[in-house]
Amino acid sequence: MAFSKFGLSPAILEGVKAMGYVDPTPIQLRAIPLIVAGKDVIGSAQTGTGKTAAFALPILSKLGEHSQATRVLILEPTRELAAQVETAVRDFARFTNLRVAVIFGGVGYGKQMDALRTGIDILVATPGRLLDHIEKGTCKLDKVEHLVLDEADRMLDMGFLPDVRRIVERCPRKRQTSLFSATIPPQIETLIKWAMHEPETIEIGARRTPAETVKHVIYPVAEDQKSDLLRALLDRVNYDSVIIFCRTKHRADRIAGLLKKNNHAVAVLHSNRTQREREEALAGFRNGRYEVLVATDIAARGLDIADVSHVINYDVPQHPEDYIHRIGRTGRAEAVGDAFTLMVAEDSQHVYSIERFISQKIARIKLEDFTYNYTALFEEGKPGQPKGYERKVKGVRLSGGYFFGPARRKKR
Ligand code: AMP
Repeated sequence: MAFSKFGLSPAILEGVKAMGYVDPTPIQLRAIPLIVAGKDVIGSAQTGTGKTAAFALPILSKLGEHSQATRVLILEPTRELAAQVETAVRDFARFTNLRVAVIFGGVGYGKQMDALRTGIDILVATPGRLLDHIEKGTCKLDKVEHLVLDEADRMLDMGFLPDVRRIVERCPRKRQTSLFSATIPPQIETLIKWAMHEPETIEIGARRTPAETVKHVIYPVAEDQKSDLLRALLDRVNYDSVIIFCRTKHRADRIAGLLKKNNHAVAVLHSNRTQREREEALAGFRNGRYEVLVATDIAARGLDIADVSHVINYDVPQHPEDYIHRIGRTGRAEAVGDAFTLMVAEDSQHVYSIERFISQKIARIKLEDFTYNYTALFEEGKPGQPKGYERKVKGVRLSGGYFFGPARRKKR
């Protein structure tokens, strides 16, 4: 089915065409007709599925012409995501006279106030800074017709739910509300009951399935060889751009320093960096100046970074959902990508949880020509092992065994 069948306005269809979208993604197929019909929608599609267009296209289409009042409010958990969604909305709306602005913390108020004064149709914002503007009287939400709560589970994780509630209370009761969340924990369930009206729920694929285009593998390794293995991987893998996830800001800085010493062009993204540094890192990574981006989870959540060929989990994520989010950076919108996870002995429980979560065993791989120190992980699944790797994940028998890879060598 083509976009033209949704009943979107001609100007928005033109915007879609200019973006180069030909076929709607599954979430777009399901969400657009519901939002066009005026329904409240809960979308539990993972990031990279095209969810921004799924809510933005029908909403923009309904707005029609520019008016002085803010009729659309899109809440995002991080400034990077807010900036990214604003850019997407601006792109979709480029053949309309609708005005878009973005509001987030960490930067001055001046430009944001100027933008708000000019009359904004669509506001993309993070909760804290938006509340500041509301309290200063520089922003009003009493004309909001469409409210989008994006990445709601991450807003919960970051402690923003009380702010979100205060913001929702400022919006008119009569409105259309959409909520997107990879998972629906009880607090989000409560928010849904309170903020939404007879919502329709859309689940795209299993909520827990990583993008099918991602090939993911685990590299077991002894703790003291992690950084050596990472460097060896980067040397041998034929990557275009790679994001490396670390557990802490400190580890991210350390790994970035190490790779810089090895002549990699590296950018770092974590919450201790200034807004300017983060923007520079992202812009440089997007335009190819940096081939490697080292990031923590919060900083990188949901960011749309095109053409990431590889994701490397330098540290195993502590929460299975984060695994899905991290590897969602690659294999986005049908492109093929690889995701590698370095695993040390203490990670075993986390890895089992991830495998249970995604109902899939992740292959263990050893890097060819790399001299490994011994780790008990190499004993997994061998017959007679007392704490072997023989487990069942939803009926899938897990056994050990390694193969060597990756076969592809770096060409450049
Ligand atoms: P999102 O999940 O909204 O962050 O989108 C992920 C990526 O998919 C973005 O780069 C979008 O521009 C792209 N995208 C979204 N919808 C489509 C579509 N129908 N066809 C091709 N690419 C798309």
